[in-house]
Amino acid sequence: MKAAWQQPTHNFDQEKLVSFWSHKHVAYICGAGTFGLHQMLITPYGCAGRLGSLVLDQPLAPSPRPEGRHCLYLREGKCLACVKSCPSGALTPEGLDKQKCYSYLLEVDTYYNDLGTCDACGKCAAGGPCAILEPGD
Ligand code: SF4
Ligand code: SF4
Repeated sequence: MKAAWQQPTHNFDQEKLVSFWSHKHVAYICGAGTFGLHQMLITPYGCAGRLGSLVLDQPLAPSPRPEGRHCLYLREGKCLACVKSCPSGALTPEGLDKQKCYSYLLEVDTYYNDLGTCDACGKCAAGGPCAILEPGD
């Protein structure tokens, strides 16, 4: 059996801001959840977590694809908690401006440069009603 994997973060083109291997898209293909307005994968347990992925050359029984969407905005046109909590203005109802988001992450990294690599934020994923769910919500 062969297996392939990728490091959890920083595996992306820093100009185009496109990942060489997207853990959340592997999870989507596996039926683990659906994307929200904030571009995070919302699973039956929410989106405030970290995904990793391992790809095997073994046939596996497919999981059923999720029905419907967990994102309240994409489902019913309401919520926008992620947009309201975004400190950089990168996230709007029209989508995510990756360059604006990444510029903000680099600002955070500079601010906390005594702590090692800190180019992080995630306020859009951590505070909304989709952050933590119970299966069936
Ligand atoms: S915070 Fe609200 S609008 Fe944003 S992704 Fe979650 S459910 Fe959708
Ligand atoms: S990670 Fe931070 S800056 Fe980027 S879209 Fe989310 S809340 Fe906005």
